[in-house]
Amino acid sequence: MLPLKQNNVTVDIGAARSEPSFRPSTSPAGRPYELADLVRALTGRLQMSLEVDRLLGFFFEEVGRLMTVDGLVYRHAATEVELLLGQSSEARMGFRLSIQGDELGELLICSGEPVSELLATQLAAALDCLIFPLRNALLYRQAVRASLRDPLTGTGNRLALEQSLSRETELARRHAQDLSVVMLDMDHFKTLNDQHGHHAGDAALRAISLLMKEQLRNVDMVFRFGGEEFALVLSNTSATAAAVVAERIRAAIEQLPFLVGERQVKLSASLGCATYLTGEPLDTLLQRADQALYQAKRSGRNQVASAD
Ligand code: GH3
Ligand code: MG
Ligand code: MG
Repeated sequence: MLPLKQNNVTVDIGAARSEPSFRPSTSPAGRPYELADLVRALTGRLQMSLEVDRLLGFFFEEVGRLMTVDGLVYRHAATEVELLLGQSSEARMGFRLSIQGDELGELLICSGEPVSELLATQLAAALDCLIFPLRNALLYRQAVRASLRDPLTGTGNRLALEQSLSRETELARRHAQDLSVVMLDMDHFKTLNDQHGHHAGDAALRAISLLMKEQLRNVDMVFRFGGEEFALVLSNTSATAAAVVAERIRAAIEQLPFLVGERQVKLSASLGCATYLTGEPLDTLLQRADQALYQAKRSGRNQVASAD
């Protein structure tokens, strides 16, 4: 490993590759691709997007003019970004990106090419062009995610539900697949708040959200619809399968060992399922799930009902 400390980038060039062997790259105009060309091209292109994957796509293309690059891996744990462009390979250079104390993640450039001093300088300059736009893109991503998330439970909020449903209904229509929605409302939640305090109510909402995520497939989505009510969007799921999933969640909530201090408090929920009818408006789909939910409430709570 050859660690270099640049201004903003800690660079670990792995696979300490033997002899420096500079091969001048060529610009689109056929001239050698010089540092000034690179910086100009990158600076221009990196201003064009606030999407992390697009920025890295531009970076990948521009660095590909300097050297043979198989692929590029980028990870930023705080915003849950994990990207692979091109092909991953064993020979790779690792860069830990940070700026003024902000960790911007790790970038791996997969390349078997020897790293000459000139190339190392060019790469450092390229990374310097990347990090400010990358930081802005990560901040933008965080802001967008926050606007779609319920802060108490970490599930999607109502806006996220609307966005997800319009995307999922379009996909269901296009691929002629089933799509189901389940509405869940906690039973007698007001009593829980009244008897054990709002704080216990909040903890119950968090526990229920976690339970649902654990019970569902990765592709399923959980949203807080409002108050103590949640909506689940289950792609590629028939009415029968949705009822099975809803029953599994109902049973798990009933069994949940929810503690308030030393005391175990029983929780239960009622659930209503509806399956997308091609072409129906989103509001209608949600209303049908809601009607099924109220059917479950009317029938005595702690149960599942399905729309016709
Ligand atoms: P039902 O079985 O008919 O659904 O009865 P319920 O008591 O659950 O329904 P109701 O609509 O009467 O009351 C809902 C309660 O949920 C009242 C409200 O204070 C509580 N609630 C809504 N949002 C929150 C929240 O964010 N935190 C807490 N702790 N309570 C909440
Ligand atoms: Mg309720
Ligand atoms: Mg309610």
